Parts: sequence; C-alpha cells; structure tokens
Amino acid sequence: MKVRVGINGYGTIGKRVADAVLMQRDMILAGVTKTKPNFEARVAKQKGIRVYAASADRLQAFSDAGMEVHGTLEDLLREVDIIVDCTPGKVGATYKPLYEKYKVKAIFQGGEKHDVAGFSFNAVCNYDGALGRDLVRVVSCNTTGLCRSLYAVDKAFGIRKARAVLIRRGADPSEDKKGPINSILPDPVGIPSHHGPDIQKVLPNIDITTSAFAVPTTLMHIHWLNLDLQKDATESEIVSILSKYARIKVVPASEGIDSTAQVIEYARDLGRRRYDMPELVIFKESIKSFGREIYLTQAVHQESIVVPENIDAIRAMTNLCNTAEESMRMTDESLGLGGT
Ligand code: NAD
Repeated sequence: MKVRVGINGYGTIGKRVADAVLMQRDMILAGVTKTKPNFEARVAKQKGIRVYAASADRLQAFSDAGMEVHGTLEDLLREVDIIVDCTPGKVGATYKPLYEKYKVKAIFQGGEKHDVAGFSFNAVCNYDGALGRDLVRVVSCNTTGLCRSLYAVDKAFGIRKARAVLIRRGADPSEDKKGPINSILPDPVGIPSHHGPDIQKVLPNIDITTSAFAVPTTLMHIHWLNLDLQKDATESEIVSILSKYARIKVVPASEGIDSTAQVIEYARDLGRRRYDMPELVIFKESIKSFGREIYLTQAVHQESIVVPENIDAIRAMTNLCNTAEESMRMTDESLGLGGT
C-alpha cells in the first residue's frame, strides 16, 4: 500500500518534507500548494511535482504568470490520505476545519500550539501514541533536538533535572527581512522559554527549565545542557549511548568540527542536499561528567531536523508501519542519515 501525501505550504520545511516523501517507497507525493508563482513554484514543477494554488483567489496570479497549476488546495485535499501542513506558524490552525471537511489526516508543525492536534510528536519518544491518529503536531526544531538527546540520556541513566540554554539563530538563510542583525535578544526575557513546557508535552516526566536567546546567525541553533542524573555516567558511556542513535551525530572538535559553520561545511562535504543536517549534532569534547552531573553542547539544523520526524508521523498515523524502530530505519536509510 502507498499513502498519498499532500503538502500545504512549500517553504523551508514544506519543500524538504516534499523531497523526503518522494524518497519513500511507501508514499506518493500528490502535490504541493504555493501562494504565488515564484521561482520555488517553477522549480517544483521542473522536478515533476504537481503544484496547486493555495486558494481560488490566487489562481489568477498563476495564470497571469503563465504557470499552469492543477487546481487549488481543495482539489489537492480530494486527492490525498494525509496533508502535511507547512504553512507559517499559527496559519496552520486556520486550515484545520478545511482538513476536517475533506476528512484527511493532518500533520501540523511546531509553530502551532499543542492543542491544534492534541498530540505532540517525536519519533523516538512517542511514535506509538501517533498510531492511527487523525491529527498530530511535529514539535519545533529546538524541541526535536532536545527530545532526542534527553530521551537517549534519560533511557540510559535517568534524568532527575535538566537545565538548558538555547542560543537560537535569528532567521533562516532565505529570510532577509528578519533579525536581530546587531543584538543578543533574550527570547523571552523571562524564564522559562516555551521550549521546556513544549518538551514536557512529549516527555512529561522530564523536569526541565529552558532559557533562550536569539542571535544574528542563520545556520543553526546551539543548546548548552546541564543534566542531573539518577546514576553516575562516565564521558565515554555517554558518548557510546548517544552514538547508538542514527539521528544523533557525535562529532569530534579534534577533527575541526567545532562550530556551527564547521558543521555546515561538514554537511556540504558529505554532499547533503541544501547542506541539510537532520541529525542532532553533539560536540564530543563538550560532554563532561562530574559523576551524576553532566554537561553537553549540541547544534540543531533548524531547516531540516524535523523532516525525518514528519515522515515517521505519516507512517504512524496511516498505520503504514507499527513500530518506531522500523519506520525510523526506513526513513533514515532513505535519507542517508546516520553513519560518520
Ligand atoms: P516558511 O515561511 O519558510 O514557509 C511557509 C510557506 O507557506 C511559504 O511558502 C508561504 O508562501 C506559504 N504560505 C503562507 N501563507 C499560506 C497560506 N495561507 N496557505 C498556504 N501556504 C501559505 O515557513 P517554515 O519555516 O517552513 O515554517 C513552517 C512551519 O514549520 C511553522 O509552523 C514553523 O514554526 C515550523 N518550523 C520551522 C522551522 C524553521 O526553522 N524554519 C523549523 C521547525 C519547524
């Protein structure tokens, strides 16, 4: 059986999820929506992807530009089993009634509130809870990164308390109108940032407090973690646990991978499309143990880390695959994740 997938919103996340769907043997990409006939729509068509106008009032713009579309979002919804909503934050929720009208399952992204779907997803943490669901929210890039490392450490050693400082990229590379361009912005000034409570939607038993700052960079986020464990863990034990997960890359600063710029250069050298790094990157030498208290620094490629999670959410919701391990293995293999 192949599941028919549509993508509403073909921006940073939408175009990556669309490419990932095209690489799955058990999925068909039925089409994507675009609000305007720009170069992204043209390139999608050149790749053979069916493009639909986001709404009927946008059809004229496509026809004026001489760009043929297959209809509107509503036509796409008639064609699919599941829609992956990749519209900007808070826009997704406005589409929920339309998805329900056409009785299609829907995945929302981290820019939406938990309540839009009533279930916040991260594959390694709670795949089973998404089995057969109609609505799921894939958590944000920062929450996804934290869920991966916290899950791995908690499972092996138990986490009594987690404290994290997030240094967030100010904007994505294509967002030339966003900032800050000359400031370090506590985001928010108060504690906690929304990430701690968001992680608890996925991992309810983790005691975590987060604080976040936005800075003038576009490449990646950095997280600094301080974890109080239930039992002692040595640095080499932590490295060996983290290295077992294909979606976590423990990288050696001794080889020169010691900054977000070098992680991206590494992704380029690996030949990754769009220099994507969907794995959570943990700097090996940042892992420090004082018995039960450990420290580590991790980097999150915000544009791509949620892509494999969206693919697994599709499999869980449509019952294409009933175990997290099998779905994640298929996703990771198709996207070339894991390894060194
Ligand atoms: P984006 O702005 O890059 O892309 C959104 C796309 O939706 C654009 O192509 C835009 O033209 C289109 N769009 C706008 N209004 C629309 C509408 N009414 N109907 C249909 N399409 C519409 O945004 P993004 O960064 O891809 O973010 C999408 C979602 O993913 C958000 O919830 C965001 O919070 C979440 N997310 C973003 C990142 C990131 O770093 N970019 C990471 C993880 C999660």
